[in-house]
Amino acid sequence: MKIDLHTHSSCSDGTDHPYALITQAHQAGLDVVGLTDHDTVEGWVDAAIAAQETGIKLVRGMEITARCHGTHVHILGYLFNPGHPKIIDHIAKLQASRHGRAREITQRLAEDYPISFDDVVAHAAPGAVLGRPHIADALVTLGLVESRSHAFERLLAPSSPYYVSQYAPEASDVVKFVGQAGGKTVWAHPHASSRGNIAPDRAFEELADAGLFGVEVDHRDNPADTRPALADIVKAYGLARFGSSDFHGTGKPNQLGEHTTSADVYFSLIDGTFAEVI
Ligand code: AMP
Ligand code: ZN
Ligand code: FE
Ligand code: FE
Repeated sequence: MKIDLHTHSSCSDGTDHPYALITQAHQAGLDVVGLTDHDTVEGWVDAAIAAQETGIKLVRGMEITARCHGTHVHILGYLFNPGHPKIIDHIAKLQASRHGRAREITQRLAEDYPISFDDVVAHAAPGAVLGRPHIADALVTLGLVESRSHAFERLLAPSSPYYVSQYAPEASDVVKFVGQAGGKTVWAHPHASSRGNIAPDRAFEELADAGLFGVEVDHRDNPADTRPALADIVKAYGLARFGSSDFHGTGKPNQLGEHTTSADVYFSLIDGTFAEVI
């Protein structure tokens, strides 16, 4: 079985409509795909239609922005109740904060570059959760940088004067509230150092104590030379080892199925959750 549980659609910063994304995952030969847009469940319905039409198994999820020891981390929440008050509250808070933050980053950029917030919004699908990739795309269209990656390196990294941080709940609280909503959590790309500082090793123990289910070990942003050590930590805390592409359509080089999760881990993930696999 080919299982890739981490992808993004145009409901956040991916480039494919959720229906098109799931159809593409089926064509790419995946048996199971996870839809995990940033801080939104907006794509769940259209993704479900594509899953039912093609027969691919769909695991509905969300990549949750969180804070951990002074840095930002991403926690993947799977198969929770999207109507749970704490999930609704999280989505509302993050959407408001992401909007204000994108506006503020754009205002800072506008002091030095000819870019407006309208340019940024024009690069997001209607109602999409805004992120730095939309600002990056606007910068590319305006001819100010060559690519999304280039925009991140030059202008949007946490070390850049244009960068603005955003509100995020504590990672251990995220793990708990997703559990309360009947879902399970996986720490996404914990060693993605190119995106900023990484959380210390003691965070694995803290999140495991809070109820974390697994960790993404096999992910292109975890440097290959630290993956064996990461796998050891994961094992030591009794956590499950995940591997995923983090596909963003044409927004990133990541390809569907470039890393995968084992069938054993998949079946234990989906056992006893509020939402079912479609
Ligand atoms: P934000 O959610 O606004 O903080 O933006 C973070 C998102 O930007 C991540 O989830 C990635 O999808 C994307 N991203 C981060 N670093 C890069 C990069 N170097 N090149 C392209 N996309 C990136
Ligand atoms: Zn993203
Ligand atoms: Fe992420
Ligand atoms: Fe992601």
